[in-house]
Amino acid sequence: MKIKINPSMVCADLSKLGQQVESLNDAGVDLLHWDIMDGVYVHNFCLTPGIMAACRSFSNLPFDVHLCISDPASFITEVAEAGAGIISLQLETTPHLHRAVEQIHHKGIKAGVVINPSTPLSHLESILSEVQMITVMTVDVGFAGQNFIYPMVDKIAALRKIIDDKGMQIDIQVDGQINAKTFSQVINAGANVLVLGASGLFSLSDDIGNAVQVVRGQIDNTVSGSFL
Ligand code: ZN
Repeated sequence: MKIKINPSMVCADLSKLGQQVESLNDAGVDLLHWDIMDGVYVHNFCLTPGIMAACRSFSNLPFDVHLCISDPASFITEVAEAGAGIISLQLETTPHLHRAVEQIHHKGIKAGVVINPSTPLSHLESILSEVQMITVMTVDVGFAGQNFIYPMVDKIAALRKIIDDKGMQIDIQVDGQINAKTFSQVINAGANVLVLGASGLFSLSDDIGNAVQVVRGQIDNTVSGSFL
């Protein structure tokens, strides 16, 4: 399975975000991750649909939008119009999940669900067949630079088994402190989409194209190593 690189745009150089989007596009990443926060669900602000829309013309890559907000379903139209390719709803703040997923699909966009570290996988059971991606948070949502929560490796493996046993085609994304120290654990457990922030990508080189090459090499080594 191809491992997809999904840079977290809030960790890019925000003073030249359009150029960063273009450079990541040219460097061959697979998607771009946009965290939207409202200062309510988490005590932080982040990117907005307006910022995403301003960057849309710099790349044709899918924009993967993570709505870390208190009422994700109420912003589906705004992020769709801003150019989202995948909209991921925070499971814990979306009470009417099936309706929200349907709303996303009606806009011709892929739907995903994000699950917090303390939420059990059983809460995903009824929605799995409806979504294209599950994001397993490997830190508590809201801030960069936290410690990776290691029990999430078993959670990823359990989710991969459920998906494979049912013969479903659902991406498993991991978000939070994904870097060279954690690549092998999350990939071997079955994650195939990696959200990469400062430690995983942007701090590796001043040249973003070079940073992507370094990461691709680290991931390739992990994948080939796991088959030895
Ligand atoms: Zn995120």
